[in-house]
Amino acid sequence: MPAPRAAPLSQPEPQLPTVASWLEVDAAALVHNVGVFRRLATAGARPLRLGAVVKANAYGHGLGAVLPLLHPRVDVLHVITPQDALEIRRLERVHGLPPRRVLVIGGADAQEAAALAEAGVELVIADERWAEILAALRHSPGLPPLRVHVHLDTGLGREGFVPASVPEVLAPLRASRELEVVGVLSHFANVEDVTEQTFAQEQLARFREGAALLESSLGIAGGQLERHFAASAAALVLPESRFDVLRVGIGLYGLWPSAETRLSARILDPDPPVLIPVLSWKCRAQVVKTIPAGSYVGYGCTHRCESDTRIAVLPVGYYDGYPRLLSSRAHVLVHGRRCPVLGRVMMNHVVVDVTRAAREDQPLVATLLGRDGSETVSAEALAGWAQTISYEIVARLGPHLRRVVVGG
Ligand SMILES: *Cc1c(COP(=O)(O)O)cnc(C)c1O
Repeated sequence: MPAPRAAPLSQPEPQLPTVASWLEVDAAALVHNVGVFRRLATAGARPLRLGAVVKANAYGHGLGAVLPLLHPRVDVLHVITPQDALEIRRLERVHGLPPRRVLVIGGADAQEAAALAEAGVELVIADERWAEILAALRHSPGLPPLRVHVHLDTGLGREGFVPASVPEVLAPLRASRELEVVGVLSHFANVEDVTEQTFAQEQLARFREGAALLESSLGIAGGQLERHFAASAAALVLPESRFDVLRVGIGLYGLWPSAETRLSARILDPDPPVLIPVLSWKCRAQVVKTIPAGSYVGYGCTHRCESDTRIAVLPVGYYDGYPRLLSSRAHVLVHGRRCPVLGRVMMNHVVVDVTRAAREDQPLVATLLGRDGSETVSAEALAGWAQTISYEIVARLGPHLRRVVVGG
């Protein structure tokens, strides 16, 4: 008898998305929100380009779910990492989509930059590493030039060149054939936190100066570089920041950057744009049961039931991105009714009171985020309970969760 063959060294199974809970991406809402920003882009004398920021797994919505919907409707896709840019190129091949402009707004090392040039992806340069990138590209003949955008730090105090340093630091780019400067950008520090825009105006002034300095250092005509500055908030409430391209993230997903931005938009326009939230998060109960008065729920025995209580144990926890700060604060929706979270949010479980909502004849589906009947749990509400902003609520939803596209 032949010796049994040794099992091949174990390859990890490709991870299947969990179905304990799932995210629903509303295609019609996403398309509506793109339309809102497309109208802003075409409201002026000349049409502007519309860029979609799909960093952080498309703000937690799932790059793979969102890309086929956004790709045909926007002019540029913005990502943080070179890996995401190359993933977009791969998804384009999978879906038979023609290559779209893709811009990496985070950093890249020299090796990644060569891969981006090869894939026709554009890169933001924001610090001295551009010199290493240039050196590496010189050693890889045959690559197309890498199209780059220069990031100016006009007041955010994050990445980018201080405008005054531009002539000295970037002069060597003038002679480079490997790096082709095609754009200049900056990012606002404060637009969404205020309703008066003094700081933003200062940033705009520094940007105009810095962009002009850059163009003269490169020996090109003023206004030749593509300029972009406005993210969602500025695109909505600061028309003079719109320049040539909008770089819209949160607004495309149907969330206002802040309450202040929403207020500013109302002041600017009595009939302000309507954004429709794209994401819902749902799950089936793992267990539904009644526990007697006096019982405790969850770690730390922080909740004691005053009366007999019908509870649902939901297979969702802080591992999945349901913040522990929601303990004893948040509600979920069941059969259109609000059900309070009892006690602590655990790693993989949360317990809710369904005494008034459970129906014995129907399986129990809880909505953690989104609408059920006339009730809604918004990302803003979750953010308020969890002492954060809606951006963090959606961006931290686990990449392991299944995303399904619905509607549209
Ligand atoms: C995240 C980001 C954006 C998008 O911001 P939103 O507020 O989500 O619209 C635009 N530009 C840069 C540089 C960013 O990092």
